[in-house]
Amino acid sequence: MPKVLIDQESCSGSGNCMALCSEVFEVVNGVSQVVEKYRDDNLTEGTVPEEVECVHKAEEKCPFNAILVK
Ligand code: SF4
Repeated sequence: MPKVLIDQESCSGSGNCMALCSEVFEVVNGVSQVVEKYRDDNLTEGTVPEEVECVHKAEEKCPFNAILVK
């Protein structure tokens, strides 16, 4: 299953990720984090099912390249 990583140091809080993929991303206090449902050990890491394809669009559209999906 794809792993999602958010680099909060690079995140501007623009909210693009949440707009494109609210199932996985939420912006709290001006910074993006993984929603509790898919979160791993901390706010910036998650594992999502293959069928949640919007993570790829969010990665592509983050203006600061703060999202990595692997
Ligand atoms: S799109 Fe990128 S910069 Fe904008 S809130 Fe999401 S992770 Fe942060």
